[in-house]
Amino acid sequence: MLNNIITMLKDSFGRKFPYIRLSITDVCNFKCGYCLPNGYQKDKSDNRKFLSSEEIEKLAKGLSKLGVSKIRLTGGEPTVRKDLFDIIKILKNKSGIKKTVITTNGYRLDQIAEKLVDSGIDGINISIDSLNRDTFKTITGHDRLPEILKGIEKLQKLNFKNIKINAVLLNGINSTKKDFKEWSNFIKSNEITFRYIELMQTGDSIEYFKRYHISSKIFTDYLNENNWIFQTHGKDSGPSKNYIHPNYKGKFGLIAPYSKDFCESCNRLRITARGDLRLCLFGSTGINIRHLIQRDDQLDELKDLILKQLQFKKESHYLELGETGLTKNLSQTGG
Ligand code: SAM
Ligand code: SF4
Repeated sequence: MLNNIITMLKDSFGRKFPYIRLSITDVCNFKCGYCLPNGYQKDKSDNRKFLSSEEIEKLAKGLSKLGVSKIRLTGGEPTVRKDLFDIIKILKNKSGIKKTVITTNGYRLDQIAEKLVDSGIDGINISIDSLNRDTFKTITGHDRLPEILKGIEKLQKLNFKNIKINAVLLNGINSTKKDFKEWSNFIKSNEITFRYIELMQTGDSIEYFKRYHISSKIFTDYLNENNWIFQTHGKDSGPSKNYIHPNYKGKFGLIAPYSKDFCESCNRLRITARGDLRLCLFGSTGINIRHLIQRDDQLDELKDLILKQLQFKKESHYLELGETGLTKNLSQTGG
């Protein structure tokens, strides 16, 4: 029995997990070449529905009792869910979770910026792989860059501060000094953190990976050549390495999953849209916890199960050996 005392999530390597990435749908309206090149296809072998807002509420309450302070809503594309704003409000007002943030492709950010801010969201990560309209269209299959940038301007007009932009680094597509310079110009006067994510191999993307993966060293070399300063950060602050510059309002960041120390700073667990707990983005275990978020009196059992599962979390992924685990593409686990 765990009662109501907060029991911190900790694994056998001493890592703490105050942060959960919760996918609320697998559905996506984009066709990013590295993720869903043929668009979203319904998984016919799995007819379970996505977690309801009631289930999400019970889950979040349980997680907050396990010391989780931050939940990132992701997908698929989380903004395709009609009850997105209800979910954010539940997390903000009823769950005990301190921070609710979202990762979105931003495809209708210009239309929903105000509603998002009003919902109380604490941070918005927007995926933009290129500032070149044609390149953006080629990667995502959609000519939406102007609307997305308009959405960002709206957020700024509303004085919303916690905006990050993420791009997947793709060899020969968005990895030249010209691309880096364009982003530098963008963050010069914009108080936004722009981060490159190194392309990760997934079960579905082996050929794409071989063709477009490039080490993020090309970007760190650029940062060093241009006097960006590495910002040291605490052990629990996650795997992004950030850089600052006195002449720039924004920051640069880098997420390099193939780097040697990447897993040391892991501070997150994932829960899929159908309630499978994933200990690692590239792990091979995926126990379902949905049966324990049906009633309020199941909280202790839920906490017990998650704590036990956590002891199976491995010290690192084996991505460098090509082991991608259960992950066919990141739309299933929210990236
Ligand atoms: N649809 C939303 C979006 O794109 O922001 C949220 C889900 S998406 C899976 C989350 C993040 O994962 C995005 O920033 C996306 O670029 C990134 N991503 C997807 N597949 C990836 C891969 N193979 N390697 C690296 N990052 C990937
Ligand atoms: Fe959709 Fe995001 Fe995957 Fe692109 S990265 S296909 S926007 S889920």
